[in-house]
Amino acid sequence: MENCIFCKIIKGEIPAKKEYESDSIFVFHDITPQAPIHLLIIPKVHINSMNDIASLDPKVTNEIFQVIPKLAEKNGIHEKGYRLVNNCGSYGGQTVGHLHFHLLGGRHLQWPPG
Ligand code: 5GP
Ligand code: ZN
Repeated sequence: MENCIFCKIIKGEIPAKKEYESDSIFVFHDITPQAPIHLLIIPKVHINSMNDIASLDPKVTNEIFQVIPKLAEKNGIHEKGYRLVNNCGSYGGQTVGHLHFHLLGGRHLQWPPG
């Protein structure tokens, strides 16, 4: 997708701190971390938001969720816990229109969100 920041990160056209990559997914550190660990997990195929999850190959959806606890363990937040966030649409606070999941950890996170 042209002009999508995250597609450009996947292609290496915009630099990012890569955490993990497979044929189908890409994981990198958020540029404005909201916690000591703040990773973004994205499918390589461009999908606008959670509303379009049905168009993602279920194998890729599964891979995303399978990799999350592995990333948590590798980053030392597995034991104490972490939060997985998807912001969908303007009311959900989505600012980048490429489906992504935030993995946040390393501090005690508050609830409810603002
Ligand atoms: P959203 O607000 O859409 O749920 O999350 C988008 C996230 O992408 C934000 O947390 C923001 O800090 C992050 N972000 C936006 N642009 C870039 C970028 O160029 N590089 C990286 N690494 N993160 C970005
Ligand atoms: Zn994209």
